[in-house]
Amino acid sequence: MEKKSQKEKKKKLPFKRTLSNNLFALRAIWTASPIYLTVYLGSSLVYGVLDFLSEGYLLRKIVNGVEGGEEIAGMIRYVVILGGVSILVYSALNWFWNVISPVMQRRIAAYIEKLLFRKAAEVELACYETPSFYDKYVKAMDEAYERMIKVMRTLDNLIARTVALFANSLLLFVIDPWLILFGLFPLLLGFFKRLENIAGHDMETEKKPINRRANYVRRTFYLGEYAKEMRIGGMYENMLRDLRETFTEFRRFIRKYGTRKAIYGYIQSVGLEVVTILGATFYSVWSAMCIGSENGGMHIGDCIVVLGSIGTISYCLNNLVQNFAEFGEHALFLEDVRFFLDYNPTMADGKEAAPEGGGKLEVRHLSFRYEGSESDTLKDISFTLHQGERIALVGSNGSGKTTLVKVLLRLYDPAEGEILLGGKNIKEMTLASYRNGFSTVFQDFKIFSMSVKDNVLLRPGRDGDDELVEYALKESGADEKVGRLKSGIHTILTREFDDKGENLSVGEQQKLSLARIFADRTPFVILDEPSSALDPIAEYKMFENMMRATVGRSVIFISHRLSSAVLADRVLLMDGGRLAECGTHAELMALNGKYAAMFKRQAENYLGSEVTEHE
Ligand code: ADP
Repeated sequence: MEKKSQKEKKKKLPFKRTLSNNLFALRAIWTASPIYLTVYLGSSLVYGVLDFLSEGYLLRKIVNGVEGGEEIAGMIRYVVILGGVSILVYSALNWFWNVISPVMQRRIAAYIEKLLFRKAAEVELACYETPSFYDKYVKAMDEAYERMIKVMRTLDNLIARTVALFANSLLLFVIDPWLILFGLFPLLLGFFKRLENIAGHDMETEKKPINRRANYVRRTFYLGEYAKEMRIGGMYENMLRDLRETFTEFRRFIRKYGTRKAIYGYIQSVGLEVVTILGATFYSVWSAMCIGSENGGMHIGDCIVVLGSIGTISYCLNNLVQNFAEFGEHALFLEDVRFFLDYNPTMADGKEAAPEGGGKLEVRHLSFRYEGSESDTLKDISFTLHQGERIALVGSNGSGKTTLVKVLLRLYDPAEGEILLGGKNIKEMTLASYRNGFSTVFQDFKIFSMSVKDNVLLRPGRDGDDELVEYALKESGADEKVGRLKSGIHTILTREFDDKGENLSVGEQQKLSLARIFADRTPFVILDEPSSALDPIAEYKMFENMMRATVGRSVIFISHRLSSAVLADRVLLMDGGRLAECGTHAELMALNGKYAAMFKRQAENYLGSEVTEHE
């Protein structure tokens, strides 16, 4: 994984890479919609030619024609034909831009999103925890489509300007070859344009982490999940303080980069206006005044055309330089997109399919460390989950229970040791087929802004699913609440997109997310504190149901209430990343070790609170 700091980042890519990144964008657009790219770029060619014929060339033809006593009929014929062709072309393109183009743009965006989302699903969870990678990821997601469209726009501009430049230069050359020198001057200004673009890119790069922080603060103000904590104590003030700090940061670098950009921009404008436009105007007017003299001179028509054309040429040249600088800028941004898309997950996908019916899951001498951590979170863990066995994973906070479950799901790969399913290392199996064998409910489960049914199934619906969802809700205990909702299992959850949407309490959400394991018949079930928001009676009922409904399936459940561990076939106690004790509830009580101590303490507390309640 790349660990370069942003300052070390290269500001300029080699020409080959710049070209390759821009071609990459054009290829993506071409693959998504060849017609769109063809019409987009073809139209600039047509616009360029029509503009020239109806501006500089037309003016010269008319003024010189009048001066030379040419017949008016020829000129009218030219104007009528040109007008007719222009109307036809503009009408066709207008229809294309308004009717066809939006659909094609959506198609291109969908294609690019598909590329990114597929990769996003592939990258390891560890990547989300590495800021340098995460920044690139956010950047790629934010900008890939816009940037690719910008490449096309720049190319479109380049074509239009090249046509105009070529046509106007030819005209000037015919009139007086020396005039070309004035037109070429803006090329020298290209250097400053490049500096301006580099400053722009640096500014955008530095802005990302600040924006990320500011967006986080904003989210804490409007997302329901933060609403309670935000109203307690001084969190509101803390967040406002953070927002103010990001604003101060923002002002600091705008001052730094904004000043640089302004100076480069100023040098370019002055160079263009003074040297090119005023210089050429002076030269051609002087030349026209010399008409009839020995030095030759210009026709009035030519002089008018020069004044127009020199402006067009310098504008085009300046624009072309800018276009090339833009290609450089696009290439820098696309470098991040390509880094993300080319990223090869270190977690290699296996080739074989995982056994469909599950099997014995063996964990052998497993150790694991989070990236950036100084010590192992899991230390030399070994145990076997037999088919159909229900294991309770217990231990104090931070002992490594969730981490173990994440490694079992192969969201992370262990540094040492191995996991075998049916006797085979899980690394030999495809990630998708292996993970598809698990139904999982995490502590920080998410409810989606979709129907109850979608939230339970977590997949597209099929015939007969309504009954399956009703059954799953009954088993998880969520049926009572869902039964009271106006549209039952078709009710939309959350009010994010639907005013009639329902917001469920945390306990209700937890029951709903639990229904997911009953709606699926995967060989493995993993529950990470599935009952933390339930009251003891609801929790006991939920565990009873779970035990009944998961017969034949292998289950690992994490619970902080040890009363539920009694129901398990076996209990694993984690302590400081190690597997400290392992056995049935009775065996561990007889052992009289840490588990027994924890169990007795919880039982005393519970009894104590019962006594207090009844007093
Ligand atoms: P438990 O589920 O038993 O409460 P966890 O598995 O969540 O414990 O955490 C075990 C240890 O690993 C804790 O010290 C925690 O701070 C650390 N940890 C958890 N997630 C991460 C992470 N993404 N990066 C670094 N350390 C982590």
